Amino acid sequence: MQLPKIILKSGKDQSIRRFHPWIFSGAIKKIIGDPVEGDTVQVFDNDEELLAVGHYQPGSIAVRILSFDDSVPDEAFFTEKIRNAVNYRRSIGLIDNPAVTVFRLIHAEGDNLPGLIADFYNGVVVIQSHSVGMYRNRELIAGVIRKVLGNRVSAIYDKSSSTLPHMAGIAAADEFLIGDSGPATVTEYGLKFLIDWESGQKTGFFIDQRENRRLLSEYTKGKSVLNMFGYTGGFSVYAMKDAGLVHTVDSSASAVAMADENVRLNYGDDPRHRSFQEDAFKFLGNIDGKYDLIILDPPAFAKHNSALANALQGYKRLNMKAIEQINPGGIIFTFSCSQVVSKEDFRKSVFVASANTGRKVRILHQMTQPPDHPVSIYHPEGEYLKGLVLQVE
Ligand code: SAH
Repeated sequence: MQLPKIILKSGKDQSIRRFHPWIFSGAIKKIIGDPVEGDTVQVFDNDEELLAVGHYQPGSIAVRILSFDDSVPDEAFFTEKIRNAVNYRRSIGLIDNPAVTVFRLIHAEGDNLPGLIADFYNGVVVIQSHSVGMYRNRELIAGVIRKVLGNRVSAIYDKSSSTLPHMAGIAAADEFLIGDSGPATVTEYGLKFLIDWESGQKTGFFIDQRENRRLLSEYTKGKSVLNMFGYTGGFSVYAMKDAGLVHTVDSSASAVAMADENVRLNYGDDPRHRSFQEDAFKFLGNIDGKYDLIILDPPAFAKHNSALANALQGYKRLNMKAIEQINPGGIIFTFSCSQVVSKEDFRKSVFVASANTGRKVRILHQMTQPPDHPVSIYHPEGEYLKGLVLQVE
């Protein structure tokens, strides 16, 4: 079968030759054949030399590259890529590790599979397609994950309804592709979390904060801790090991209920923990002198470049509230997970926030995403999580 062909404009082949995995629509000279969204296409330079094969999508990112040669995404292709992803996780100690039974198995471009996310929850794998090309291959992908991981996998759930591009107009149903399972209990560095992928945000848990949660536990002893945007209580459960008190705040009622549940799972009914279903900015209105440690982990304030200026204002306001009111010597764990906000931009917002309060602020740590969320050096856009640990004099 002849695959549709994408011919690039002269000079527009450079980024592909450097393994950048996206082709923008502006780089295309002509399209031969009539690809529809999700089709596999071949990419050629202006002299018609074959450069790559990828999934086509009408829109700004027109092709997501799967191979930088002529290999097509068939079973052998997915088997090799997924086997590499698993072997890499094994090399960093995440496979068959009883202390950590939750990790990201496939991280899109970082695992050379643009458009595909897969998270492992103690035997249940939750996959999310961000492209129609990957979505069309979901049964094949699930079968390969099962084949590669063997009986480590009891069920595979597809949760792509919220991540497929709206324009595609696909009415995807979230469903089990293999097996069936209710919410699972996972272990992260010995702590337990209940994960509900069906009703939870993303695939059910913010796995990307694992190493930052672990770092937090070095700072919590005897402290009064405020976990803002706490979701299902990830940071709170770590803080509860030895903090004096822990308050979890989130605007979502179901998140707050799960945070309580996760604290209970690890510590029983412990009066040191309290949760509040409230808007973050409202809660931060008056917390003067109440907390020694504040975690700020808001949702992405900017999803597109057009929202960047507003997002930076948001980070500034949020951080100012915390820096202004934290107890002397206090510690702030502050994050941004917006892909369009660079590390430099984020740091600048925190700088302006600090300067506006007039307090002395030092950076103790700079945080990012953990190694099961790898970033291809040729695709810096893949580095999305940024964080700073601050100490306020
Ligand atoms: N720190 C969490 C992840 C946070 S995700 C973890 O480690 O698991 C962001 C959270 O912010 C979501 O749970 C969302 O419900 C909450 N949220 C969004 N807008 C909010 C607001 N204005 N006030 C309080 N919480 C908010």
